[in-house]
Amino acid sequence: MLQNRVALVTGSTGGIGLGIARALAAQGCHVMLNGFGDRESIERTRAELERAYGVRVMHHGANLLHPTEIYEMIEWTCAQLGAIDILVNNAGIQYIAPVHEFPRDKWDAILATNLSAAFHTIQHTLPFMRRNGWGRIINLASVHGLVASVNKAAYVAAKHGLVGLTRVVALETAGSGITCNAICPGWVRTSLVETQIQARATAMVTDLEQAARSLLAEKQPSQQFVQVEQVAQLAVFLCADAAAQITGAALPMDGGWTAQ
Ligand code: NAD
Repeated sequence: MLQNRVALVTGSTGGIGLGIARALAAQGCHVMLNGFGDRESIERTRAELERAYGVRVMHHGANLLHPTEIYEMIEWTCAQLGAIDILVNNAGIQYIAPVHEFPRDKWDAILATNLSAAFHTIQHTLPFMRRNGWGRIINLASVHGLVASVNKAAYVAAKHGLVGLTRVVALETAGSGITCNAICPGWVRTSLVETQIQARATAMVTDLEQAARSLLAEKQPSQQFVQVEQVAQLAVFLCADAAAQITGAALPMDGGWTAQ
């Protein structure tokens, strides 16, 4: 379906981003991975994806805190793989503290990674997409792009901003063959959430599984984690022709969290 399309997935050395990169490779996309991690394990992942799906897979280590590195990554992707047809703004970080104690450097880093980086990637990638008359931009927002929780001021602000950015880009690209949508997952059990489960286990003086159940019970009516593969398949669907008229949407995948 997506044979020979080129996808850039930020933050794809683990978690949801790697799941999306894998699902796109399985559809025949060439993929530029991005994100941190040790060199050898990134290389193993890269080579495994190439072998499994017969596509080209590369990695660029741009730190998204720095716009110049983002621009270099986009130029390099287009030079090496010929285009960027699919842009997935996935990288994200979290920090938890009440607003009156929230460290300023954490605020700045979360806004830069979870929001400003998407502005920079989109701004720099759109001319390539416009030239081809086709493009898919998928922003990994969150339920926290739609509703709030305590102690997550920067994350909630950034994700609400990302949903807003998604809508503006959708309007500016409407009818051009380019769509821009946000996916808004509830709890997915990745390292980002594992840190929160560990903190909860410590606070509750209990084990990780009990803490995980309590995390779900508080917010996610299905009482089940969203699976990485489920998010990845929604991303694949948004790239399909069947999704050509879905643009500017913020799609929850949250076990009922935002229905409450
Ligand atoms: P994760 O921590 O497992 O992975 C994050 C990825 O981003 C890693 O590859 C990391 O190297 C990369 N990254 C972080 N900072 C970066 C930077 N400055 N430059 C380049 N790469 C950087 O997280 P995840 O749970 O897979 O989250 C992926 C996205 O999904 C995030 O935007 C997150 O906010 C969102 N999300 C996650 C959940 C969840 O429950 N896990 C729920 C809703 C939304």
